This record gives sequence, C-alpha cells and structure tokens, in this order.
Amino acid sequence: MTLSRRSLLMTAATTGLGFVVGAQAQAKVDEKDPQAMALGYVDDASRADVKKFPKFAAGQMCSNCSLYQGKAGDAMGGCALFAGKQVSAKGWCSAWTKRA
Ligand code: SF4
Repeated sequence: MTLSRRSLLMTAATTGLGFVVGAQAQAKVDEKDPQAMALGYVDDASRADVKKFPKFAAGQMCSNCSLYQGKAGDAMGGCALFAGKQVSAKGWCSAWTKRA
C-alpha cells in the first residue's frame, strides 16, 4: 500500500511538473529575425550599430522606450513592434522613442 501511495504521489508530482514545463514563456526576439535586423535590434544596447544608426545615444534602451511593455525591474518584456515576443530590457532598436 505504501508503494501505491508513493506511486500516486510521484504521478501527481510528475503531472504537475509537466504542466509547469508546458506553460511556455513568450519567445525572445532573435537578433537575426528579419524584422529585428531591419530595425537594428540588439539584446544589449551597448552593441547598437552606431554607424548604421547614428541617432543612438548612450542610455537609450528598451526599458526606457515608450513602446516597451515590461514592468520596471523585469529582464524582458513585450514590445509593440514585436507582437507575441519579448525584448531584452537592456536591448535597443532604431525605433526607440523616449518614454514620457
Ligand atoms: Fe526596444 Fe523600443 Fe525598439 Fe521595442 S521599439 S525593441 S522597446 S527600443
């Protein structure tokens, strides 16, 4: 009986774990994605291509962009330009607009 109870608990634990693993987070924007490349998106603003995008200025990053949808302190968040995906809070792209 003890073994059966253990088996039942193991099954419940496994099922619960499967549920957590199955709940996928939103995909991260890939820098190599055609839209990301067109906008010059980078995961780290320090790698912004300043020759191609001279309007970049130090301090600009997704977390202080008006199109960023993440909360303060989040490592990643949504962006109005990349529906269904997440950008890095420290990222940047040429559509950056100062958050009001
Ligand atoms: Fe980041 Fe703003 Fe560009 Fe979206 S629009 S990727 S939040 S800099």
